[in-house]
Amino acid sequence: MDRLIYLDNAATTKTSPEVIEAMRPYFGELFGNPASAYTFAGNINSDVGKAREEIAGFINASADEIYFTSGGSESDNWALKGTAFALKSKGKHIITTVIEHHAILNACNYLERSGFDITYLSVDENGLISLEELKAVIRPDTILISVMFANNEIGTIEPIAEIGRIAHEHGILFHTDAVQAYGHIPIDVKELGIDMLSVSGHKINAPKGIGFLYIRNGIKIEPLIHGGSQERGKRGGTTNVAGIVGLAKATELAAESLEKRAKYERELRDYLIGRIENEIPYALLNGDRSKRLPNNVNFCFRFIEGESMLLLLDQYGICASSGSACTSGSLDPSHVLLAIGRPHEIAHGSLRLTLSEETRKEEIDFTVDTLKHIIERLRSMSPLYEDFIRKKEAGV
Ligand SMILES: *Cc1c(COP(=O)(O)O)cnc(C)c1O
Repeated sequence: MDRLIYLDNAATTKTSPEVIEAMRPYFGELFGNPASAYTFAGNINSDVGKAREEIAGFINASADEIYFTSGGSESDNWALKGTAFALKSKGKHIITTVIEHHAILNACNYLERSGFDITYLSVDENGLISLEELKAVIRPDTILISVMFANNEIGTIEPIAEIGRIAHEHGILFHTDAVQAYGHIPIDVKELGIDMLSVSGHKINAPKGIGFLYIRNGIKIEPLIHGGSQERGKRGGTTNVAGIVGLAKATELAAESLEKRAKYERELRDYLIGRIENEIPYALLNGDRSKRLPNNVNFCFRFIEGESMLLLLDQYGICASSGSACTSGSLDPSHVLLAIGRPHEIAHGSLRLTLSEETRKEEIDFTVDTLKHIIERLRSMSPLYEDFIRKKEAGV
């Protein structure tokens, strides 16, 4: 295979040619700083304004509720630390979940070291939080609930509207990391009761290094990046014009095709899940079967080491991931797989395949055929597997 089969769209996506085209002028003739006083810059500033409108409209927000950032990690850090610093006299308790992205978990860890108290909600075997547990851990000093919209590893979609309702019944702010959901499932921040929402461009065919935090009007959070008066004085730094225009273009493209794309990906996803379950023994699907991102497939293969599987897939030009992109290179198995109850040795044998609208059925077929062969080969070298089969055949 000299063609790449890219099945790692949860790690990053290809920037669309249309997005690159939309951005191009801002690297060339339209290079001005939108904060400058002359007409040349003013026109660029109004292009940024149009982009802001476009993005706001997509989530049913208003333009002045969109704050551009460098991406998902910054937005997550800002929502948590900005709220913590703004409301610390009201309370120091924050509720989140054990399956969040490290941008949330490590920001929480920092806040804990700074005197805040964090409660981490557990999840069930499908990765769903319990609303009963959420209600039970709310305290008078709880200032923020942060629960991700959809999980980046196992694709589980959390009950966002219900969490929003519970948060507001208790006068608590609700933030959601929607990096994996934005552009894949419809989001209406008003209907869902979301106060803050994090988005990253490079997960939806815009470039790396651009994203935004939606902050509902009326909410005051402390800035994270102090500097100039950009983003209405809340986030300093010269405006990333090309990135913003690119993110708006990617949003427009995602909005146009959302339903059709989700249907296409969901069918391909279910076909892939079906083939693996029917043709590869001892494969366990991770994540909820129905409350699941349209493009996410995640399995644990027993008696297999994830890294060896990735290396062998790579030899066939197949790009996949074992756990989160950020955790590969670490020896610990994914915190998400452990949280849904997979034992260490099984969690180590995980494989995440995330599709895009460009993924073809032939690529899926080639991937399953290759995977079958790789797994057979790896198991044939595994003493654990041999032992397991011997005992099974002896009926022990
Ligand atoms: C990728 C990702 C992030 C981080 O976004 P960056 O733009 O890469 O910083 C945060 N949360 C989730 C769920 C993600 O998938």
